Amino acid sequence: MAEMPEFESEMHRTAVAQLDQVAERLHLDHDTHVRLRYPRRALVVSIPVRMDSGHTEVFMGYRVHHNTALGPTKGGLRYDAEVSMGEVTALAMLMTWKCSLMGLPYGGAKGGVRCSPRNMSKRELESLTRRYTAEIILMIGPDLDIPAPDLGTDEQVMSWIMDTYSQQKGHTVPGVVTGKPIEIGGSLGRLEATGRGVLACVVEACRHLSLPLENARVVVQGYGNVGAAAAKIAKSLGARVIAVSDAKGGVLDTNGLDLGKVDAWVREHRFLTGFPGADEISNTEILELPCEVLIPAAVQNQITERNAGRIACRVLAEGANGPTTLEADAILDERGIFVVPDILANAGGVTVSYFEWVQGLQQFFWTEEEVNSRLINLMQRAFRDVLTLAGSQKSNLRTAALIRGIDRVKEAKRRRGVFP
Ligand code: NAD
Repeated sequence: MAEMPEFESEMHRTAVAQLDQVAERLHLDHDTHVRLRYPRRALVVSIPVRMDSGHTEVFMGYRVHHNTALGPTKGGLRYDAEVSMGEVTALAMLMTWKCSLMGLPYGGAKGGVRCSPRNMSKRELESLTRRYTAEIILMIGPDLDIPAPDLGTDEQVMSWIMDTYSQQKGHTVPGVVTGKPIEIGGSLGRLEATGRGVLACVVEACRHLSLPLENARVVVQGYGNVGAAAAKIAKSLGARVIAVSDAKGGVLDTNGLDLGKVDAWVREHRFLTGFPGADEISNTEILELPCEVLIPAAVQNQITERNAGRIACRVLAEGANGPTTLEADAILDERGIFVVPDILANAGGVTVSYFEWVQGLQQFFWTEEEVNSRLINLMQRAFRDVLTLAGSQKSNLRTAALIRGIDRVKEAKRRRGVFP
């Protein structure tokens, strides 16, 4: 099949290789297979921003729709120094499988701007976000494509997108993004949803392996939106969170970290570095700590063939997208490490985004208990479905999750046919 130089990146190669492997196993027809290897549309924009220094800097931004067979597309927006067209395209493909696996009426999308958000002022970030939104405005909308927070973006960024889009349309359009603040149509429970979903999978995995969660050692790489929520929910379920990290490094206390104190420190100092009463640990070391549950919740390509032989957990629940390479996956499999793959483990975020979209369209808002219990139900259902399929297919959970996700898209495409 044709090469795709436009999307050249490690992550895209992995995403396409995963699709190819499952296509072979599923006996996917050639036409569907070849179509799904390519995104439906991909937009590149340049974004001039007047910086606080008075100079203008130009940033590159992307928005990619991978597939629309199941409905409008949905996917996060990432602000990070490593963002590229290839990365965003791979993440859009993962979103297609994730939404399909969860039974949500969405195709997959992703967006990104190559920038270092932690080195930018709030005003610069607002200018960047508003201009990016104006540049991609033809690609987004409540019936077309609905962005959400991802690495380096948050509810404030979503508010600026919603406001910019609404200004252009002449009326307020809350449904254009999810992950909004509550005051402008956000959903209760959205902030912690991805972390809550990760823990719902961890609970199921521990039950399956007869591994008690009580006092289990939990390690979290990436103490951000996903990682911090996952750590706190793990602790609330009786586990012992022994180490967490951020982009600058991590902290370790084998007796269990006091997460209240960790939060207070991060609020004041921004990074974990210097947190008193715990040992410092690097982002490489943290992944190799002996523990029951490891949750990578930072960036991709963290567990590779170089360190997979030294990963010392029983359950690896992928909060991040693409933290494990294909080669590492095979090694973890051989070593009997139970991997809950990203498209299942971190699907809680898009699931509650879907709840937010539904609540917004109906102008009827649910209680936090309703949101959380519906989320847990859907996560448990998806986990058990994938586990059963893995049993019948004699595969690992990643392959089973991909089979389920790709199969639903295949059926939708078959029913719809090819236009014209
Ligand atoms: P975030 O920006 O809130 O937090 C990311 C955390 O990782 C921060 O603590 C940051 O300092 C740290 N980090 C950044 N680069 C790192 C590196 N190289 N090594 C170690 N730590 C690093 O982002 P987030 O929204 O929590 O997203 C984290 C991951 O979860 C991403 O892979 C994202 O795609 C995935 N994800 C997020 C959501 C969501 O709802 N936010 C949903 C599904 C998947």
